[in-house]
Amino acid sequence: MAETLSAVKGMNDIAPPESDHWLWLERQLQDVAMGYAFRGVRTPIVESTRLFIRGLGEVTDIVEKEMYSFEDRLNGEALTLRPEGTAGVVRAAVEHNWTYEGPKRLYYTGPMFRHERPQRGRYRQFHQFGVEALGFGGPDVDAEIVLMACDLWQKLGLQGIELQINSLGQLAERAEHRQALINYLSAHSDQLDADAQRRLHANPLRILDTKNPQMQDLVNGAPRLMDYLGPESLAHFEGFKRILDANGISYTLNPRLVRGMDYYNLSVFEFVTTELGAQGTVCAGGRYDGLFEQVGGKPTPAVGWALGMERLLELLKSQGRLPAPDAPDCYAIVPDASHSGIVAHACRVLRHCGARVQLHATAGDGQGSMKSQFKKANASGARWALIFGEEELARQEVTVKDLRSSEAEGGGQKAVPLGGLAQWWQAQS
Ligand code: ATP
Ligand code: MG
Repeated sequence: MAETLSAVKGMNDIAPPESDHWLWLERQLQDVAMGYAFRGVRTPIVESTRLFIRGLGEVTDIVEKEMYSFEDRLNGEALTLRPEGTAGVVRAAVEHNWTYEGPKRLYYTGPMFRHERPQRGRYRQFHQFGVEALGFGGPDVDAEIVLMACDLWQKLGLQGIELQINSLGQLAERAEHRQALINYLSAHSDQLDADAQRRLHANPLRILDTKNPQMQDLVNGAPRLMDYLGPESLAHFEGFKRILDANGISYTLNPRLVRGMDYYNLSVFEFVTTELGAQGTVCAGGRYDGLFEQVGGKPTPAVGWALGMERLLELLKSQGRLPAPDAPDCYAIVPDASHSGIVAHACRVLRHCGARVQLHATAGDGQGSMKSQFKKANASGARWALIFGEEELARQEVTVKDLRSSEAEGGGQKAVPLGGLAQWWQAQS
């Protein structure tokens, strides 16, 4: 036998029943996004490496060490598997002038790639669902997308997801805070880890985001950006909070919430749970008014969030909120393969009426006994067994058996004419 091959480390195969859950979840997410008049957008998985360097910032975890980058074999162009979705959406919006006619509300879903250490809730290929509201500057839309996420948790029946918010203000405000931060951190330079030492002058704000437990006391005592915000930034933040308050959304102010990417300003937020171990952030986002210009577009305010599908699915599982796996409606029992033509036709008629029909089929070694076929019908989760037996077919009939309730319970079995299967199905639904 040939050598067996495995998937790349940190990248997962998704098979039934998990794949049923994925489809189901994507539908729920789309429904909620569409309720807010967001529309789907699809951008390439591969982008020019320059997009992420410019968009995310050079001194970020992603650009410094997590990107899957490679050279195009033919022209040497530097390419990268997208580590997140926002930069690509904004690149496309600038390229095609998507906001020319006015602002746009968009959502996307798909795989993202980051070269991280694989662990629970952290993979090298993972999946995000995200929303981007392009061309909107007011706090009303910041609040709108936060409310959308809250509606999602509600629709999915999830509990215990805490909302943390902060404001990053504007560039000038951050510059002033930055100096204070550098002064503070320099005074405690013996407590800085290697990452922080390196970032002290390049990107000190990101030090606040450290996951190093030894540095928590230090960063907790650092100057707060909130104290450097001017009246306009504060008014934006107040407007954001007012709408959340009016909708009964509770949140905590986390002055250390700075987000991983350089492009954020004003409102930033994360939805966090304590149920997923160290990887507790389910959904995160904020405003990124500067990103359009960074990738060569006109100044365009924008705000968005992205959620991690794997983490959300794990949370759904731990709270028992996943639906039963998909099952067919009918299982076609076929004692004799010589009738396969008629059976295939009858199954198609039912499918055309919307029924999900699973045909009994084997590896080619005979149909198996009626008993084993019934066992498979039961295991499939189907409500109905359709029995295409010799005698039934001779009478142009099929026996329909309710696998979930007996005769006494109003179920049982009955003969249905082959030509009457569509009517029979319609009477069931
Ligand atoms: P973290 O702090 O957990 O590394 P992040 O700040 O890097 O997250 P974002 O870039 O904001 O995450 O991505 C949004 C969401 O995507 C995260 O909140 C998380 O749910 C999910 N996510 C990010 N990285 C991964 C990963 N490597 N594997 C699985 N999910 C991820
Ligand atoms: Mg990360």
